[in-house]
Amino acid sequence: MDNFLKDHEKQIKRVLWIELGINIFLALSKLIVGQQFHFLSLTSSGLDSLFDGSSNILGFIAISLAYRPPSSSHPYGRHKYETLGSLLIAGLLIFTSLQIGMQLFAYFGEVPKRGEFGLIPVITILISILASYLISEWERRKGEELSSSLLIADSAHTRGDFYIGIGALVSIIAAKFGLWWPDFVVGTIICLFLFYLALRIVRENLGYLMDASPKIEKDLIKQVEKIAEVVDIHRFRARGNQKAMFVDFHLLLTPTLSLREAHEIGHKAEEKIKDLLKEHSEKVDVTVHIEPFEKNHYDPE
Ligand SMILES: [Zn+2]
Ligand SMILES: [Zn+2]
Repeated sequence: MDNFLKDHEKQIKRVLWIELGINIFLALSKLIVGQQFHFLSLTSSGLDSLFDGSSNILGFIAISLAYRPPSSSHPYGRHKYETLGSLLIAGLLIFTSLQIGMQLFAYFGEVPKRGEFGLIPVITILISILASYLISEWERRKGEELSSSLLIADSAHTRGDFYIGIGALVSIIAAKFGLWWPDFVVGTIICLFLFYLALRIVRENLGYLMDASPKIEKDLIKQVEKIAEVVDIHRFRARGNQKAMFVDFHLLLTPTLSLREAHEIGHKAEEKIKDLLKEHSEKVDVTVHIEPFEKNHYDPE
């Protein structure tokens, strides 16, 4: 089993490495040619490939660092490596999309810088379109073969690059006929899309980093209160995301129970919560604090 998993991990990593190499090549060629020929759509499409490349790197971090089992130095695991990586990528994305967005003004400068048609931009974007199509197909097939949600999700994203590439191709061809506004429009859309993507990453990851309460139904507590001898629950807290979640609460029980009985009910409650949160998170960690249900029981803030 261990060998199988190792081999599995190796294969997923290999797919990501190949994709990373291709993405970096595409990003550099599009950024350079886009700047040289003043095509905003080509430049921002290059930025998109750069972003994909950094997502591949994040995939490596996730597989090799974030999902290592907890150890004595990191008893809660290392899931936040992935969060940190995502936030870094988002920061980079915000910075560069603003940078490229500034180039929109160059369209209306004293000496307007607008896309100049050429064979090189056409070839560059054609290679990119073909590459995104092939990678997306290959990744989807590999993802299904290795049942890796990471690869399948990534293949959907690469499919998006394919459409971005088509948009850039249209802008470049339009420039041949003296039309500059398609490049302006396509470039703006890609820039706005990347900016939106970055903000979404920040929103999703900042909450987890700051231990924001995940969206779980309040019904959960009622379910646990159905267990016999459980009278009440208070100080219910949860933090985490779909990868790992930590829950703790006070469980108020009939005061006459023996320690042995109370302990058993405590475990039942933990199991119940784990079961109810199964769809919310891959790994749920529950801690209960048991209290006798009595007037004025000791419960300092
Ligand atoms: Zn126990
Ligand atoms: Zn309490």
